[in-house]
Amino acid sequence: MAKVNRKFIDEVGSRFNASACMSCGACTAICPMETGMLPRMLFRFTMLGQDGKIRENEDTIFSCLLCRMCEVNCPAEVPIAENVRLLRGYFDVHVFDLAR
Ligand code: SF4
Ligand code: SF4
Repeated sequence: MAKVNRKFIDEVGSRFNASACMSCGACTAICPMETGMLPRMLFRFTMLGQDGKIRENEDTIFSCLLCRMCEVNCPAEVPIAENVRLLRGYFDVHVFDLAR
């Protein structure tokens, strides 16, 4: 069973803005990166504190173009690019040990 990272939930999950997501799949369908990972799976793993699962797919976070095509097509107006930025910031500091 995957380990829940409380620190990750406190620092990222609490600021993550995806509660309006209804998992319709429009964002994944429109994403030019065609990873199948962004952004729905990121949301799920973040809310569950599964930073290990996100790390396994960190390439997808850093390959996001921040183009916001997903946001334009999101019926729930979820700030997807900002959520991706938040995850990048966490990994920069806690995984890559980069200063903010
Ligand atoms: S398009 Fe919006 S509501 Fe639909 S899965 Fe993506 S983030 Fe959630
Ligand atoms: S902002 Fe990122 S997740 Fe959204 S459509 Fe663009 S590349 Fe895909």
